[in-house]
Amino acid sequence: AEEVGGGDKEVVKEYFNNSGFQRWRKIYGETDDVNRVQRDIRLGHSKTVENVMKMLNDEGSLKGITVCDAGCGTGSLAIPLAREGAIVYASDISAAMVAEAEKQAKEQLQGDVATTLPKFEVSDLESLQGKYDTVVCLDVLIHYPQYQADKMIGHLASLASSRLILSFAPKTFYYDILKRIGELFPGPSKATRAYLHSEGDVERALRKVGWKIRKRGLITTQFYFARLVEAVPI
Ligand code: SAM
Repeated sequence: AEEVGGGDKEVVKEYFNNSGFQRWRKIYGETDDVNRVQRDIRLGHSKTVENVMKMLNDEGSLKGITVCDAGCGTGSLAIPLAREGAIVYASDISAAMVAEAEKQAKEQLQGDVATTLPKFEVSDLESLQGKYDTVVCLDVLIHYPQYQADKMIGHLASLASSRLILSFAPKTFYYDILKRIGELFPGPSKATRAYLHSEGDVERALRKVGWKIRKRGLITTQFYFARLVEAVPI
């Protein structure tokens, strides 16, 4: 049965501060202590980050552009964004993730005198305020059912002045993912469930707040599926 109210969010937060943190820090890292499935997900996710960097750079230099990275995880996107000269505000619901991202940013960007370190903050994306040129939210919606995702998408759009980039696990791959879900979430981490979203539903949520999709991408490996969309105000 689906949880109602804030149930999903509390479960997700607890997961990403504990077992989920350990699991995803490894997947998003570079160490060799990952299994075959985790290595495949690492590859898929790195392709997503690469695609996002390309989407962003295609529209011109990132120098001085403000970017909000909502649900930043260990900083996989925030760090390359800062390296390109973007002014990055990165936040996550998990304090463990934010601490790791901050550590990674310091290690990877130190000595790069021209680079401004991202500003990190522990916050759920629903509480974020302010205005940013670009808002990005990668692989976060998978933790929420569509009715919650709708609200999150609307809120993220309200924070962005020129573009919003989202990635989510597409419903098109429902049966593929179902087959593999046991491997995707082995052991106790099964406590979090994965929600797939149809592109039409995401598009509708964007339309409702006056946004439309300008570019689409699809990233698939054996165990990783992500639809990437770039939306702009209509
Ligand atoms: N975006 C990062 C990336 O692509 O490398 C991390 C993706 S990871 C699968 C999902 C992240 O979303 C976790 O770090 C988790 O703590 C965060 N998260 C989940 N729900 C959130 C919410 N409501 N607000 C902010 N962050 C959230």
